[in-house]
Amino acid sequence: MPRLIFLGPPGAGKGTQAERLAAIYHTPKISTGDLLRAEVKAQTPLGCQAKVYMDAGELVPDEVLIGMVKGQLQQSPEEGWILDGFPRTLAQAEALEELLQELGQDYDYVLNLEVPDEVVVARLLARGKEQGRSDDADRSVILKRLEVYRQQTAPLIDFYEAKGRLQRVNGNQPMESVQEHLQALLEGFRRTA
Ligand code: ADP
Repeated sequence: MPRLIFLGPPGAGKGTQAERLAAIYHTPKISTGDLLRAEVKAQTPLGCQAKVYMDAGELVPDEVLIGMVKGQLQQSPEEGWILDGFPRTLAQAEALEELLQELGQDYDYVLNLEVPDEVVVARLLARGKEQGRSDDADRSVILKRLEVYRQQTAPLIDFYEAKGRLQRVNGNQPMESVQEHLQALLEGFRRTA
């Protein structure tokens, strides 16, 4: 079963594609945004702490996320996993390398969904209206998230490129076309696996 990491700006379609591939390959999806929103909804101490950062468009502290993902990766290693929203900082990427080494696991692909800024802003504003996500409803929070992405997450592209592990995928296409592209990539993986 594949082990995949999705990269890309907010609104690139990571969650959508991760969800689809998770269903097709019967692989658990680990979405840190969803996990955090569940904590917020349940008003756990972690959720109350995280909400402040999320509403401001900032990242939740690394140690919270690293602990969260560690627990998830240990759950059913034989089924693989699809990471959506993690890693988002170099510290998280380095922690993930260490963690996978400890667990004797490796990832198969790092999939970078490329989408221009203006498209991302339009998508997030539309999602804010449809789903009522508070961090999508406010243009200034969206712009903040994009800035945080550029500063803290975009360097991961070079990090994985330097390891020769990055796959670039054009995310500025209909969802079905992106999915087909990803599946074609993964079929190559399955044949050689
Ligand atoms: P997006 O559409 O911005 O990709 P997500 O649903 O992945 O949204 O995440 C929503 C928010 O949750 C982020 O803006 C951030 O505050 C927090 N978050 C999610 N994943 C992480 C992470 N790996 N590190 C830090 N914060 C995170």
